[in-house]
Amino acid sequence: MPIHLLPPEVASQIAAGEVVERPASVVKELVENALDAKATHIEIKIEEAGLRLIEVSDNGAGILSEDLPLALERHATSKLERAEDLFTIATLGFRGEALASIASVSRLTITSRTEEADLGARLLVEGGKAESLHPIGAPAGTVVRVEDLFYNVPARLKFLKHPTTEKRHIDALVTNYALAYPEVRFHLYQDGRPVLQTSGNRDRREILASLYGVDIARPMLEVFSEDRNLMIRGYISPPSVTRSNRREIQFFVNGRPIQDTTLTAALLKGYHTLLMTGRFPYAAILIEIPPDQVDVNVHPAKAEIRFRDANLIFSGVQNAVRRALLAYTPVPTFEEELRWSSSPWRTENDRLIDPSWSFNATDEGPADTAPQVTTTGIPSPAQSGLPEGKVPLLRPIGQIAASYLVAEGPDGLYLVDQHAAHERVLFERYMAQRKTTIPAQNLLQPVVIELPAGSTRLLNEQLPVLTRLGFQVELFGAHSFQIRAIPALLQNTDPAAALRVVIEDFEEDETPLQAEIEAKIIARVCKRAAVKAGQVLSPEEQRTLLQDLENCQSPRTCPHGRPTMIHLSVDLLERQFGRKGAR
Ligand code: ADP
Ligand code: MG
Repeated sequence: MPIHLLPPEVASQIAAGEVVERPASVVKELVENALDAKATHIEIKIEEAGLRLIEVSDNGAGILSEDLPLALERHATSKLERAEDLFTIATLGFRGEALASIASVSRLTITSRTEEADLGARLLVEGGKAESLHPIGAPAGTVVRVEDLFYNVPARLKFLKHPTTEKRHIDALVTNYALAYPEVRFHLYQDGRPVLQTSGNRDRREILASLYGVDIARPMLEVFSEDRNLMIRGYISPPSVTRSNRREIQFFVNGRPIQDTTLTAALLKGYHTLLMTGRFPYAAILIEIPPDQVDVNVHPAKAEIRFRDANLIFSGVQNAVRRALLAYTPVPTFEEELRWSSSPWRTENDRLIDPSWSFNATDEGPADTAPQVTTTGIPSPAQSGLPEGKVPLLRPIGQIAASYLVAEGPDGLYLVDQHAAHERVLFERYMAQRKTTIPAQNLLQPVVIELPAGSTRLLNEQLPVLTRLGFQVELFGAHSFQIRAIPALLQNTDPAAALRVVIEDFEEDETPLQAEIEAKIIARVCKRAAVKAGQVLSPEEQRTLLQDLENCQSPRTCPHGRPTMIHLSVDLLERQFGRKGAR
């Protein structure tokens, strides 16, 4: 093919791909424009996850009628004049391509009036082509309506996630802006239902509650640190309130929500030793620095930035977080301390026992008949040597460190991790019950749990799965659910905590309906419900736990694959004491 210039529509569709990846990107650009126009009230209406309609109305500065066609041109902006300005940008927009990009992949109508003008104007653009421009009476400010997004790029439509996911992205995005601009009133509607309404009274706590739900937002700690050139503010969860992924860690730099793995790392460093492995805090951290200290022009969607002095920001965040935690965190109780101090030992290599103890119990003797100590890695059921991983009858001896049960078997000593063992027991019972109907236990007092809008919708859609898992949950007000019953197996568990674990799993999976996902949820719920390390068990409880473990199908590992027990055979003991085969 000879080289030729692309027709303008094709070129602009290609460029649009960088800016408008999904419905939430459109919402982002339109909200940023409204904020740049100094609006104090922004209303967002979404229909069908943004594919049918995205409408953003603001009461900001508006656009002069004669400028309206220009606003839709690529590289047309009122926010930047010279290349040098790029390094002192104080607005959210500056590239002058959002409206043009959006207009090239949708049917866009923009209506605007400035305070001074008597009449406003309306411009209609379809697939990037201006269709009509006419004067019209309108309130001061701007309304942008984006209909039938991607109608002319069917390939893009195919790549979109499930509507629930797209809606959740939009909710999270708008809530983030609301948090960054607490002086602005935000109203967000999805399919006619209000999702977020902030009052613009500068109270960030109120917005945190719609972001995370009241239960999580209430105990969040305030972060504040101010230096000549760096101000760090925000909220972080105490170490007791965590989740299984980093998704609720959000940074803002000069009012711009950004993704930055080093900032996340700095935050986590601030929590050093206070979090259990695999758990992450909730955090919303706002950083203000002089505009010439950041390069915002490194990403078409402006989602990433570069700092001139990254180390300064990094240590600033780490220290601010650490200070907030130290100021508020209560002195750890014995139980927690025990868990924390044991976690580095556990996690370094995921080894259950220190690899430097090298008892090679397997060098002699029939390794395949006796269970053995595996000193490296997690023993797979096959490695562990017991037929299908069974355990022999065990005689309880006692408990050590309030975490491990000591028992005698026909061939030596068994050390059982009480938490892992109980997880296994609960998991197998739960899975067995799933084959028929999981018995539910009515709560004496129904528990009400508040959730943010996104989770509310998700949970509402997944109620049948919950019912299948033995929960009885129903919608109870706009963003609350009432838990009336939980699986009988979990009767000693905090119902709200158990439900939250399930919701976290729903959030992670696009289609949380398959059997294996239910199993995963069950495993997580059981982890929550199982006795913890640090819990003293009565001799009766110890015996019951060991018996239950003996009856398990796969008693040697917890549902997450870690060992439940270590076996020290008589043979091994004899050799360790130099009674036999000294070498
Ligand atoms: P950018 O925001 O990068 O300048 P856009 O394509 O998003 O580029 O917008 C182009 C121009 O249109 C803006 O510079 C601004 O002057 C004007 N504009 C867009 N939206 C609004 C709005 N909601 N209120 C006032 N002016 C707007
Ligand atoms: Mg813009």
